[in-house]
Amino acid sequence: MKRKTQLIHGGISNDPATGAVTFPIYQVSTYKQEGVGGHKGFEYSRTGNPTRNALEELIKDIEGGKAGFAFGSGMAAITAVIMLFNSGDHVILTDDVYGGTFRVMTKVLNRFGIDSTFVDTSNLENITSEIRPNTRAIYLETPTNPLLKVTDIEAAAKLAKEHNLLTIVDNTFSTPYWQNPIELGADIVLHSATKYLGGHSDVVAGLVVVNSDELANDLHFVQNSTGGILGPQDSFLLIRGIRTLGIRLEEMEANTAAIVEFLNGHPGVKKVYYPGLETHPNHEIAKKQARGFGGMVSFDVGSAENADKLLSKVHYFTLAESLGAVESLISVPARMTHASIPAERRAELGITDGLVRISVGLEDAEDLIEDLKQALES
Ligand SMILES: *Cc1c(COP(=O)(O)O)cnc(C)c1O
Repeated sequence: MKRKTQLIHGGISNDPATGAVTFPIYQVSTYKQEGVGGHKGFEYSRTGNPTRNALEELIKDIEGGKAGFAFGSGMAAITAVIMLFNSGDHVILTDDVYGGTFRVMTKVLNRFGIDSTFVDTSNLENITSEIRPNTRAIYLETPTNPLLKVTDIEAAAKLAKEHNLLTIVDNTFSTPYWQNPIELGADIVLHSATKYLGGHSDVVAGLVVVNSDELANDLHFVQNSTGGILGPQDSFLLIRGIRTLGIRLEEMEANTAAIVEFLNGHPGVKKVYYPGLETHPNHEIAKKQARGFGGMVSFDVGSAENADKLLSKVHYFTLAESLGAVESLISVPARMTHASIPAERRAELGITDGLVRISVGLEDAEDLIEDLKQALES
């Protein structure tokens, strides 16, 4: 089955109970038992719900893993995955991970004895030098947010296996349509499904796929024990979003290529960050491990004032956090998504005050370019 077909026919594409071609919303908390324990696979909706199950089967199929899990947000998914570890364990993470991931590791999960180190994983030597006897996993985000650095997943997973570590990949930016970390050797892949998978800025959700029965059992135990599940309405919305993922991403990729070309040649733009550019330091790895470069672009306009001016002039780019939806969004990471990262750390990473991040949507590319042009030149 080709990828676009799998998005539509993967998982449980229609309801076995009724034949409904769209999987229904089972808005229900509990299920009748024919005698104690005599049920049809569902007992209580924290443990399992048919609509959530249909979504979990779908994401499992499109990521190519053993089992899928749906959570109430990307952060709930990330937290559940880290809860696979024990007090005293250590995890090595990509240094410019999503701000919320940095926050949960350093302000919440550290209080439960889970230690973390952040390194530039796009250079594997940085990982090797941080491996300790208690290290349990390498957690990669690739491409990263907002500088779009790329880590070689296959090489990192190989290194992890040599040291008996799990490889976890946050695949939010690439999506399973462009990149499949499990095929590249990762053990766990996770998503903020709030972004491209939902795709319409109308649902907050997280998804996880694991590559072994053992991890599936362990993660289901955490999911059921801690309870951060996704509800049936939102599971339905995500299935609906995923059906059109392929066509949305193909169109966004074309829009993004046109916008990058425009930005790259504009005198008001100091630097453009996009893995599709041949000048991007990780371009070759991006090309090797992903089928597309994505719809996220960052560029530096030199100062916070220039960034503010741009934000106030654009019409089609909505100033908002989040990404990956049909409408184009614009943000300044230093003061928005990455504000929870301390200023000196932001400076180390290169997240300057003049850095602007756009999430390219599905509007006409000519309108988007015209909009950026008038805003940059006003
Ligand atoms: C948004 C995001 C998250 C967090 O997901 P929520 O759904 O907002 O909880 C995690 N990782 C990345 C890369 C993200 O963009």
